Amino acid sequence: MGNFYKDNDDIQFLFRHIDFKRLAKLCEEEFRFAAEFDYAPSDAGEAVENYEMVLDALGELSADFIAPRAENVDREGNTLHEDGTVTRAKGIAEALEKLAQAEVMGFTLPYRFGGLNFPNLLYSMATEIISRADASLMNIFGLQGIAETINAFACEELKQEYLPPFAEGKVTGAMVLTEPDAGSDLQAVKLRAFEDEKGNWFLHGVKRFITNGCGDVLLVLSRSEPDRSGGLGLSLFVCEPGPTVHIRRLEDKLGIHGSPTCEIFFDNTPCKLIGERKRGLAPYVATLMNGARIGIAAQSMGIAEAAYRIARDYAASRRQFGVAIERLPAVRDMLIEMKIAVEAGRALLYETSRIVDLAVAYNKRVEENPPEDKSELKELKNDARSYKRYAGMLTPMAKYLCSEMCNQVAYDAIQVLGGSGYMRDYASERHARDARITTIYEGTSQLQIVAAVRGVCSGTTEKYLADLAGLPYVDEVKDLIDKLAEGVEQLKVAVEFVKDKGNDYMDLYGRALTDIAIALINGHLLCDQASTKVPMDVAVAPGVSSANGQVVAMKQRKALVARRYVEKNAPKIKALTDLICQGDRSTFSDYEALVGPVQEQ
Ligand SMILES: Cc1cc2nc3c(=O)[nH]c(=O)nc-3n(C[C@H](O)[C@H](O)[C@H](O)COP(=O)(O)OP(=O)(O)OC[C@H]3O[C@@H](n4cnc5c(N)ncnc54)[C@H](O)[C@@H]3O)c2cc1C
Repeated sequence: MGNFYKDNDDIQFLFRHIDFKRLAKLCEEEFRFAAEFDYAPSDAGEAVENYEMVLDALGELSADFIAPRAENVDREGNTLHEDGTVTRAKGIAEALEKLAQAEVMGFTLPYRFGGLNFPNLLYSMATEIISRADASLMNIFGLQGIAETINAFACEELKQEYLPPFAEGKVTGAMVLTEPDAGSDLQAVKLRAFEDEKGNWFLHGVKRFITNGCGDVLLVLSRSEPDRSGGLGLSLFVCEPGPTVHIRRLEDKLGIHGSPTCEIFFDNTPCKLIGERKRGLAPYVATLMNGARIGIAAQSMGIAEAAYRIARDYAASRRQFGVAIERLPAVRDMLIEMKIAVEAGRALLYETSRIVDLAVAYNKRVEENPPEDKSELKELKNDARSYKRYAGMLTPMAKYLCSEMCNQVAYDAIQVLGGSGYMRDYASERHARDARITTIYEGTSQLQIVAAVRGVCSGTTEKYLADLAGLPYVDEVKDLIDKLAEGVEQLKVAVEFVKDKGNDYMDLYGRALTDIAIALINGHLLCDQASTKVPMDVAVAPGVSSANGQVVAMKQRKALVARRYVEKNAPKIKALTDLICQGDRSTFSDYEALVGPVQEQ
């Protein structure tokens, strides 16, 4: 029996290293739910035990049930029938049934709707574990954000109608935003929402590229204010499939074959308004997308982990020039880089999810249960504001880093396998195909950078890095913290330079600035992991200096990870800073000459 939680030392380590008890206390609101719901925990210990039990169960389900079906799911895909209905790949349908039986389809929903009220961090861990087994299944498991959006913004009547079946796994949802002329720029959405004289709402128009558009609960971003262009003319509606919802096409695509991608025509479809008019894009869809971005970062982690593992195993068994290829410097270097990239991505994703949990919990406390003492309230509000700002900056960073990382790792995994990696005999080629979408949907990498760089240039990164620098680090990594402090100074120079040059220059060098910021944040996070108090040993591969079965303390191993990460990134940070400060504007001045005209056909 396999288990994708139990066989993953890093996830297990982070589960212990991160203060889950604090998150449990906040999510459970001092454990007040225990009196009302018999499955709600009554203390932090019980909550954390429940969390781990769920990861364990999902780890087993992922290894033994979902992963063995992934290859067939990829080959079979989904089928669109003439009557517009869609049949899911068999393995996906079976896995969804299992997930419903495991009662994990209402991960973060409140108890009163049958949810588990779990922290977002745990959801990210679960999503990663499931994605490692089958990235395309994650697309449907990960659409729990639809229920969360209804919970956050809809009226009580709609919550009562939709949330319990979601939590029971009886329905799945879709986020229906993209149109042919509105992709990255959702302010351009045209699909019309109109009201009849009785106040009933209807939808008319086309949406495309909709994951699980054949699902049961569709959240549709629509133009309810025909005279108003831009985001302020948009509202969010919920509708269900029926005779006026036509799935016109299933996309034939590169990867995630188990995830149906639909074009939908709404032909005067009855629908209901979520929340208030004109707030559809901001804040409703913006909030939905922030959650979904973390979901894609977790999906990316799962794909990267799966890809890395195949490469690591192959490198140990494949022999060329009389040795296992892992003995060759170029191959072993690739493997180390892949492994560290996975751990760095995970560090950022889990930290982001933790900060999101804190932001949600502090905001809830301010709104629903503020302390009477004025200075306590002021402090609480300040903390809530800081966590919200950090979450707003870290979310696009995590989506950007993890998705780009998973593409690199999946690409390198094929390289480690050589010709075999290109063949369907190994899952590596599927991982590379599945990875490709992660930098595109839920906002492309370019759009994540546009969002992240605001935090970098507004001082949020600096403040967050100062918080990180104040953590208690062990002596073994103090020199690394000093090196990171030099990087922070370089970032300040780069930010000042960019701010002086204007917004177009900031856009142009947004990626470089974001890369520096992420390298500095991750450097601290890895040093923090190396300073852990968790007593845990992990296995070392047998090699020149280690025998079979040898172990090392995780703390010691993490110090090696942190050292390599920080030392390899220090010159890159310096080089990126130099690049930014060169002031090169040739992208603007020389574009036409450098790219040449579009050729006449
Ligand atoms: C498999 C799949 C599943 C999907 N699932 C869903 C779903 O469930 N629901 C949904 O609503 N949508 C979904 N989408 C749509 C997806 O979110 C969009 O494809 C994505 O946001 C990009 O939009 P676009 O394809 O129109 O590209 P465009 O917006 O046309 O972008 C093209 C290029 O221009 C760049 N670009 C655009 N604007 C900027 C900018 N301001 N700064 C810098 N670069 C920019 C982009 O980065 C990209 O490189 C899905 C797409 C795919 C392929």
